Amino acid sequence: MGNDGGSIPDRRDLVKTKQKAEQADKANQTRARWFFCALSKRKLQEPIVSCALGKLYNKDSILEYLLDKSAYGDGETICGHIRSLKDVKQLTLSPNSSPKSESRANGDSSERSQFVCPFTMKEMNGAQPFVYIWTCGCAFSLAGYKTMADSPSGSPKGADDEVLDLCPQCQKKYSRKDDLITLNPSTEEEERLREAMDRRRLLEPPKKSKKRKNPPSQDEPPSKKRETDIAAGHQFNGSLEQGCC
Ligand SMILES: [Zn+2]
Repeated sequence: MGNDGGSIPDRRDLVKTKQKAEQADKANQTRARWFFCALSKRKLQEPIVSCALGKLYNKDSILEYLLDKSAYGDGETICGHIRSLKDVKQLTLSPNSSPKSESRANGDSSERSQFVCPFTMKEMNGAQPFVYIWTCGCAFSLAGYKTMADSPSGSPKGADDEVLDLCPQCQKKYSRKDDLITLNPSTEEEERLREAMDRRRLLEPPKKSKKRKNPPSQDEPPSKKRETDIAAGHQFNGSLEQGCC
């Protein structure tokens, strides 16, 4: 088509080409987000964890990062908000048991996802929105979650009250308002999740700063020293340094 010397591409062709390129780019991004670790860019492999912003990582990459923040060049940009393993949740994912060839049939070039929604059996590949519950780590499609969570035998309705819901998969308690996190959210949703994370962190009890401005004068181990401080009612330095990104 065109460009063979016989025809000159007109504007419509160029627009089409651009649209195609944009679609391909989007497909690549979707694939990268749902099949590869956001930090190491290696293929996602269990144990898989997610953060408050719903990104997917291989747990070993996060461990590597936490041990050495420079292990990945852009580690700070990608997961500067992860301060310890407490800031990620290991996901309980449902393996995809459908035969491998199925999704490759009829010219579908999309990759087969390793995981599915336990309720709808839809693949976790970016085509459907997926969520996970922060308290237990169970992950499912939003549609499957809604069906289960709103079923009469499920949790009580009323999204805004303080009643705790039960995870439709493992029955562990969680708050529908605070603990439901969208996996690989849209830019706007990520913004919302980030604000929620910042709000939560402001409410966290201030941690004792590891870098004390006044070095301990005695040779006690730091933990013991801290207990002594608490007992003595001393004030801590640097409690406001926590929680920034
Ligand atoms: Zn659960």
